[in-house]
Amino acid sequence: FRVRSKGYAARDSSGNLGVYEFERQPVGDNDILIEIKFSGVCHSDIHTVKGEWGDQKYPLVPGHEIAGIVTAVGKNVKKFKVGDHAGVGCMVDSCGSCKSCKDGLQQYCEKGTTMTYGTKSEKYPTGVTQGGYANNLVVTESFAIKIPKNMSLQDAAPLLCAGVTTYSPLMKADVGKGMKVGVAGIGGLGHLAIKIAVSKGAEVYAFTTTNDKVDDIKKFGAKEVIVVDDLSKLDAHKGTLDYMISTIPVSYDLSAYIALVKPNGNYTQVGLPAGNISFNNFAFISSRVNFNGSLIGGIPETQEILDYCAQNKIYPEIQIVDIKDINDVYDKVLQKKARYRYVIDAKTI
Ligand code: NDP
Ligand code: ZN
Repeated sequence: FRVRSKGYAARDSSGNLGVYEFERQPVGDNDILIEIKFSGVCHSDIHTVKGEWGDQKYPLVPGHEIAGIVTAVGKNVKKFKVGDHAGVGCMVDSCGSCKSCKDGLQQYCEKGTTMTYGTKSEKYPTGVTQGGYANNLVVTESFAIKIPKNMSLQDAAPLLCAGVTTYSPLMKADVGKGMKVGVAGIGGLGHLAIKIAVSKGAEVYAFTTTNDKVDDIKKFGAKEVIVVDDLSKLDAHKGTLDYMISTIPVSYDLSAYIALVKPNGNYTQVGLPAGNISFNNFAFISSRVNFNGSLIGGIPETQEILDYCAQNKIYPEIQIVDIKDINDVYDKVLQKKARYRYVIDAKTI
């Protein structure tokens, strides 16, 4: 039988959320039921519910940084038992048989990944997947992550999207000792990028537009913080970095930031603004920088970042919030007031 669920949903592209009672698919033989305890607020939730990434099917419950406790398991489930701590990130299903899926890169599934919320499919009672701003979630066990016992559920939540989205490209770029690494946009993703790069031994340069974040960012381990209140502040750092990652969630002058990287260095864009990102052709071509984008991380890599952070005591900076304040929380994220990830206490749902 279907699982009754209570969450907070957007009903239109205004971005305002309100209470929504709905049903989830039954707990199948390979599924687990998670009682959600904490749910992180990702900037992607805001882009999505506002329709900035395309039209949505409403009502839509966002949330893809989900941590909770297993309360039921299907008969084939091996990885979890009732009482275990489990997490769910941005994906809940994929084909499982294409090359990307076989390589553990389910986010690039050739048949299309089923995202945690917003993927339209008649397999789900509301006709669309519903995310983690809710009291429970049904998911196939292979898309659930084991949360290490020595990590709190509220600390685990942001790692499931913000953590793996920055960890994955940093690992692909082999960030480590002797490397100068830039991070642009120090919010949910950016602050974890700094902590992860620092933990790997890199020298980190943080580029922020918010003056009052400087002291915090130094505490995260950055060697230098550059307050970019004007693009000319970038000039002194031109051609100095081996690698850079940008989480900036609005359109910005990409070439001005790319120019910070040494020729043949790498630059990863993870921020996903609604419009296009602009760049100056000549500055871009003259930089000889390898530019790439990166989408979250696969399931094995998501497990890896949880285990890595638990072992190395890397925790996100979080502020626990009441779901009733979610509309205000969204405004604060947009105003760059998050310090550094809001996490919803699911008790308040
Ligand atoms: P946050 O809002 O927490 O952080 C973004 C940071 O970017 C802000 O804290 C701010 O940092 C900076 N910023 C915000 N607005 C502006 C602006 N107008 N001009 C310049 N800088 C600005 O967002 P998240 O970290 O949650 O997400 C960041 C982006 O990454 C979003 O677009 C999100 O959708 C995307 N994303 C992409 C994923 C992927 O797979 N590629 C996965 C998850 C998220 P500061 O104050 O330091 O300047
Ligand atoms: Zn996210």
